[in-house]
Formats: sequence, structure tokens, C-alpha cells
Amino acid sequence: MNLLFLGTSAGVPTKTRNVSGVALRESKGKGWYLIDCGEGTQHQVLHTKLSFHSLKAILITHVHGDHCYGLPSILASAAMGGRKAPLTIVAPAGIKAWLEVTCDVTQLCLPFALEFIYSDDLSSIEFENMAVATFSLSHRVPCYAYAFTERKVDADLDVDTLAQKGIPRGPLWGQLKQGFDVEFAGEQLQSRDYLIFKHKPRKVVIAGDNDQPELLVEACAGAQVLVHEATYTEAMAQKAGEVGHSYAKQVAKFAETIKLPNLVLTHFSPRYQLSPHASPSIEDIRKEAQSVYSGSLYLARDFSEYSLDKAGRFAEIESE
Ligand SMILES: [Zn+2]
Ligand SMILES: [Zn+2]
Repeated sequence: MNLLFLGTSAGVPTKTRNVSGVALRESKGKGWYLIDCGEGTQHQVLHTKLSFHSLKAILITHVHGDHCYGLPSILASAAMGGRKAPLTIVAPAGIKAWLEVTCDVTQLCLPFALEFIYSDDLSSIEFENMAVATFSLSHRVPCYAYAFTERKVDADLDVDTLAQKGIPRGPLWGQLKQGFDVEFAGEQLQSRDYLIFKHKPRKVVIAGDNDQPELLVEACAGAQVLVHEATYTEAMAQKAGEVGHSYAKQVAKFAETIKLPNLVLTHFSPRYQLSPHASPSIEDIRKEAQSVYSGSLYLARDFSEYSLDKAGRFAEIESE
């Protein structure tokens, strides 16, 4: 699994950071998921190897413009690029209403179907290679986190259990090995009960804007990575509370409490400058988070890319 940041600024873009957007790539094949798409996200995609043909779904955390204004243009460009396959959009209900009006007024007629799933229903969605669960956050508008868990983990058949159950060697074994549930002697058999997995399923949680990180306890169970906003430092705690955002120490403390191994911070207020010599600087966010968190801490930049391998090791990929 792979994370590629397309935008890491809060509210407005800066010369070095676009507004929110993250691409999550599957480990097998070219399939990817886009989580949030602020204005200009399609321009950011042009600088990567991502293609809208292999995009599996777009998931929007909430209706604020810095997380969704890029949506109609991405759909229009995917259409111009010849996409025909249906596209799943997981988003608050308001996004669908807004998009319908936009398509109507601008006479955008898409040559592919959109399959809307409302995050407000806290849906669990199963894609071929990925299961996605939705969790509620605390922000000025309904806002969600999406937990991505890989579905097809390398596994061996549990031959002893199969023999005990009297399941005959043959096609049923093959189907179970491939992760399909099967029926045998009038009973529905879950493939996971007959497999010995070679590693823990990889799990990444990507959260939208949120001023209560502790809401993510359940979402983060078994996760190797959490991507969370840290719009401010503690010096701006009061402002953060007023506008429904988190500050670095708050998120890092939560990650420490649940012993999360990897924390990626993003969605930084433009007031934090890139230069470590400037004040306030993005390094202030890093230092504050580091002071209370003993796991691996990353501060995302636009186009920074990370891989999560089968063993659950998370690391930044050095750009070429
Ligand atoms: Zn935002
Ligand atoms: Zn917001």
C-alpha cells in the first residue's frame, strides 16, 4: 500500500502546498483511491503517474471547499480522458446535491455512472482489494475518517481445519484459498476461518478535519498508520477549538496513548512556513508533536510518498 500526498495546506493553497488531497494506492495493480480533492488536485495528479482510468473511488471527508472544490473538474477530465467505468463516490449527502446542480448548470454530461455512497450512513464498503469503514469526527460540519484495510492478504490453507470439517480437497479448497466464501453441506463457510494469514492485514486511517482525535480509537485499532490534520500548534489552541481543528500536541498525544506506530500530519495552516528559520515554522509543529509522541512521525509535503509493506513497515519513499 502506498500513500501519495497531493495537497497538504489548510483552507487556502500556498506556493508550495495545494489544498487537501491524498492518493492511496493498492499494493497489487494500479488501482487507487482519492481521499479529498481540493481545487487544483487534477493539476497535482498531472505531476504523478496516477491515471483517472485506474481510480477506484473518490472519498470526501466533508463539504468544505478545500476538500472538494476539485471534484467536478476531476470528473470532467476523467470523461475527456475516455473513462467509461463507473466510479464510486463516498461523501456526505450534500456533495451529491452540489455535484448534480454543477453538472446541470455547466452541462457536464458524464459518460460513466457515479455510484454514490453517503458517508453519513457510516457505511462499510468493500472494493475488490480493499475494505473501507467510515467513522464520525468532530468539526464545524459533519466530517468523516476512512479506514482502509487490505482484503487479499497472502495466506495458506488451514489443512487441519479443512480435514476436521470434512471438506473435500478440490475446487472448494481453491475458492477458500482465493478468499471466497463457499457453501458446503448447507453451511456458509467463511474463507478467513480456513486460512492461515502470512501477515496482518495492512490498515491505514485517513481522517478529515477534526478537533477530537480521541474519536478515532476504534478506527485506529490494528492500524499501522494514521493520517490526521495538525492545522496549528498549541499556541493557537483556542483558535483551533473555535474553528474545529486540532493542534500538533493534541494529535500526537492521542497517537501516543493508543501506541500508534506511524503518524502522518498534514493540513497545515499557511502561517507555518517551510523554512525552519522562519517563525512560525512547520518545524514548530514537528517539535511539538515529537515532544509527546514516541512512534514514527512524518509531516507530509505535497508529493511526499510513503509505502506500507507486508510486514507493516512504513517508510517515506525518496523521490527520484
Ligand atoms: Zn480543511
Ligand atoms: Zn473543514
